[in-house]
This record gives sequence, C-alpha cells and structure tokens, in this order.
Amino acid sequence: MEIEGGMTMDERRKNFFTVDRRFRARLGRLLPADVLAWAKPRFVEMGDLAANFFDPRAALADRFSPTLRTHDRHGNRIDRVEYHPAYLEMARRAYEFGLVSMRYDSELARRFGYLPYVVIFGLGYVLSQAEAGLYCPICMTDGAARVLVKFADPALRDKWLPRLTSRDFDALAQGAMFLTEKQGGSDVGANTTKAVADGDRWRLYGDKWFCSNVDADVILALARPEGAPPGTRGLGLFLVPRTLDDGRRNAYCIHRLKDKLGVRSMATGEVTFEGAEAYVIGDVGRGFTYMTEMINLSRLYNAVASIGSMRRSVYEAVAHAKEREAFGRRIIEFPLLRRVLADLIAEHEAAMALVFETIRQLDLVDSGAGSEDAAVQHRLLLPLSKYYTARLAVWAASQAMEILGGNGYIEEFVTPRLLRDAQVLPIWEGTTNILVLDARRAMIKEEAHLGLIEATRRRLEALHHSDLQDLRGPVEAHLTKLLDDLIPFLDGQTEALFAGQAITDRLIRVTQASLLLDEAQQNPDEIPVARYFVQKHMTGMLDSKAADSIIRAESESLDGEVGD
Ligand SMILES: Cc1cc2nc3c(=O)[nH]c(=O)nc-3n(C[C@H](O)[C@H](O)[C@H](O)COP(=O)(O)OP(=O)(O)OC[C@H]3O[C@@H](n4cnc5c(N)ncnc54)[C@H](O)[C@@H]3O)c2cc1C
Repeated sequence: MEIEGGMTMDERRKNFFTVDRRFRARLGRLLPADVLAWAKPRFVEMGDLAANFFDPRAALADRFSPTLRTHDRHGNRIDRVEYHPAYLEMARRAYEFGLVSMRYDSELARRFGYLPYVVIFGLGYVLSQAEAGLYCPICMTDGAARVLVKFADPALRDKWLPRLTSRDFDALAQGAMFLTEKQGGSDVGANTTKAVADGDRWRLYGDKWFCSNVDADVILALARPEGAPPGTRGLGLFLVPRTLDDGRRNAYCIHRLKDKLGVRSMATGEVTFEGAEAYVIGDVGRGFTYMTEMINLSRLYNAVASIGSMRRSVYEAVAHAKEREAFGRRIIEFPLLRRVLADLIAEHEAAMALVFETIRQLDLVDSGAGSEDAAVQHRLLLPLSKYYTARLAVWAASQAMEILGGNGYIEEFVTPRLLRDAQVLPIWEGTTNILVLDARRAMIKEEAHLGLIEATRRRLEALHHSDLQDLRGPVEAHLTKLLDDLIPFLDGQTEALFAGQAITDRLIRVTQASLLLDEAQQNPDEIPVARYFVQKHMTGMLDSKAADSIIRAESESLDGEVGD
C-alpha cells in the first residue's frame, strides 16, 4: 500500500500492545480492576494505531522534516512552521485519542476518582514505539497544563487550561517550554532573557537557543525581571501566547529550525523575544520552582519514551532473529546472538520495572493515597529513571541495528530512525551527569536513598518463593557494599565523585533487581527474567537456561500465541 510521500508502507504489523505479554501482565498488576477493564480496549486500539497508523507516518514525517517560512509573499514576517501532512495526521490522532485530555476529563475523574498516570504513560509507551518526535509536544502540552493547574492565578489558568486539555484538535492549544539559552542549558541560572513589567503584564527580551514545538500556542519561558538576583532564584516563569487577544502575532521571531540528528518530525527552533507580551505565573520570584514541576514531568515522559524505544528494539531484534537464516540455521539459534537477545529483553524488563515504579509513586503522590515517603522516593527515582533508561535506549537501538545486519543500517528499515531518535533522550531534559548530580542532591538534602533502600530491603525480605531464594543473597550483598560506597559519594570525596555515575548505576540495579524479584514472586512467568538479571549484575554469571526461557516466551508472544 502506498501512502503520501512515495514511501511504501511495510506489510501490516502486529498490534504493538497485544504482542507485548510482559507489559500486559504489568498493567494487570498495577491497575485497579475497573480502570483496567475500561483501559484495555484503549490499549488494544493504541497498539494497532502505533503499529499501523503512526509508524508509517512517523517514517514519512522523519524523512520530510518541518520547514520554516519566515515571510509571506509580500515580505511580511510570518514565521510559520510547515509540516508534512503525515505529522499533522499523527498529531490530530494522538490528541483526539485523549493522550493529554484524558487526565483532565471530568467524566473519567467522576467515574474512577483518579485516573492513574499508569494509563496515560502506558499509552505513551505504546505510541512511542512508533513515533518519538510527536511525543515531545504531547509532553510539553501536558506539562504546561500541569503547571497552570498547580501555580497559575485562576484567571490565567481558566483562560488557557480548557484549550491545552482540549480533545478537539482544532480548538487545542499546544504547549512548549523555552529555557535553554546559548550560554547554557544545564546551567539555567545563567539565563539572561529579561522581563520588564508593563502594567498588568510583562514584556520579554532575549534569545532562546533550543525551542521544541517552537510554534506552540502557549510557551512557558523563564526570564529574569529587571533588578532580580542572579542564579535560578531570580528567575520568573512567564506564559507567552503565540497569538495576542486581538489576533496579532506576539513579538518574537523564529530565526531558523535546528537541523537535528533525530526527532526530525518535530520542529525545534531558535527564538528571540522582542518585547513579547507575557503573563507571570504565580509569584514572580519562584519561577524556577514552578518550572521544575514541568521539567520533572517531562523527565518522566523521557523515561517512558526510552522504554518505548527499547521495546521497539526488542521487537525488531527478536522478529528478525526468528526469520533470518545464516550458515543453514536461523540466527536466533546461535548462542552468541541469544546472549544479546536475552540482554535486550532483560534490560528492557528491568527498565520497565524502574519506570513504572516511578510512575506508581507519582500516582500515590498525585492521588493523595501516598505518604511523604512516596514523594521522597519519587524525587529520587525520577532522575535515576530518566538518565538510566535514556542511555539504555541508545544501547538497545544499536544492538537491534546490529542484529538486523547490513539492512539494519539502511533507512528503509526502522532501526536507523530508532537510533537517531534515541540519541536525544540522554541530552534533553537534563544530561546524564546533571541527573546524577540531581539524584545526589536528593540523597543529601532529603535522604531519599534511605526510603528507596528500605523499600528494596522490604521486597527482599518478603521473598518466599522457593525458586527465588538463591537470588536473594547476592542482591543483599550488593546492597550492603553499595551502602558503604555511597558514603564518600555523598560526602563529596573527589574519587567518589569521579565514580559517581557508577555508584548511582548500582543503586538503580539493586532497586531493579528487587522489583523484578517481587514481580516474579507475584507472577512466576517472570522468574527467568529476574534470574537472568540478578545473575548478570550481582554475580557476574550468564544464565543460559534462564535466557532460553525468556527468549522463548518473547518469541511466542510476538507470534501472538499467548492469549489476552
Ligand atoms: C533536539 C533538542 C531539543 C531541545 N528542546 C529544548 C526545549 O524545547 N526547551 C529547552 O529549554 N531546551 C531544549 N533543549 C536543550 C537541552 O535541554 C540542552 O541542550 C541540555 O539541557 C544540555 O544543555 P547544553 O546544551 O547547554 O549543554 P551544557 O549545559 O553546556 O553541557 C555540556 C556538557 O557538560 C556536562 N556538564 C554540565 N555541567 C556539568 C556538571 N556540573 N558536572 C558534570 N558535567 C556537567 C553536561 O552533562 C554535558 O555533557 C533541546 C535540545 C535538543 C538537542
């Protein structure tokens, strides 16, 4: 079948949700029965859309990136971003599906009391197996809505929230977040964009260097009011509408779009505010604190995009290895290749465990069902989830590409796009180092590691399944050694700081091990994954029997042999 753009669609793919046995089991563990019953048909629909609607369009939108038209034919400045129709079709479908609006739907709120983020992020996980670029604007729109709900004055909130959370694509206002400037993205405190009071509003002046979803209707931007102190303390958060109430363009220009390695379907631009009309959010001196709310949500979106990308790598690698023959045998039979497949599947499952635990803690906080402990655990799990899964997504895409051999390197296959798209995940929303430092800050200021470690201990102590007993000791030993090594890291000793990422990696893996063991206890089908992961990371052994089981289960799942 041909679709616009002259690219041939691959043959119809299997539903990304129904072939994902491990994820379906996870949803069953995480969601209350009534929410699960309501959500399941939506997951099935999204699984089919991701595989057969979004995926072919994502390939087109990647190939035909947006362009910027700065002037109309009369020479007037218009700064209009023009998208390939495939991108616009994807955007319409995603927003109309309710990926942002669902959480703000009063009918659903009445029905369930609270619609868990597990549903929203679960759907995002399925979508992002097909398309990574569009997931950024969805995240920005959701994040802007969250900031307005939490911090904006009622008048400002009521003006924009209905449009940010609209299910009607034609009425929708999309969001964006402009923080990064030429002199620094990590060092946001170095921002120089200026805010000048102008009656009941403000005017912004200055340059923003990386602006994704650059033509959004609602921009949240950090700027420094005149006379405010340096650093993050002096920053205010402002809402900058693209279009003014009287229909005129607001006073900022888009100079050009970035020519990016990946996420090419979505427009990232360079912007100068030239006295743009802006509205302060909350208390002008607390802008960075408010912005942190949006950054935190977008870091979780990033982690979800990472596990979605990894899942696609698993799918492509296993599907190919089952079919491809070399030396008279299917390549899935070769032990060296089985090692790579087992690593991919186990690391993906462990990444899922980490990210969905982070989401579960957020749900506990947001729904009011959790204690202070949930908030503190979430505070630490978030940077850990973001940086660790982002790096894994790049690794997994590279592994999947190699399993596809030469074809894997060719743009007619999805693997180059997967790898290019994955490579942004460790950079935007905070680089790996910045997140390791953020995690360290959470451990020093809030002693967040204590709650996380306590939860890990509790999970280990509760293990009673006979097939898991031999795995408990190595994880406990790992945990004890880690506790010793955390002390110099938190004290700031130079050698320990140098090895900082290795230490936080170990904290992550011990957490993942306990989560996988706990899940295996609840569902013995998961024992081989837990066993493989613990053996690999805690004892240095490679368990080929466990690998056989997890590859067989994954392969059968892709064949659709496992029922709903
Ligand atoms: C495609 C794309 C889209 C983007 N979209 C947006 C957007 O919509 N809005 C927005 O505001 N930004 C956006 N960004 C910017 C992005 O968030 C920044 O690029 C990122 O935060 C890094 O900032 P930087 O580029 O200034 O690098 P720098 O801050 O200069 O960092 C350079 C290197 O130094 C390291 N480093 C810095 N400080 C330390 C430290 N204390 N210890 C150890 N290492 C350190 C970093 O880890 C990094 O490896 C986007 C970026 C990309 C690539």
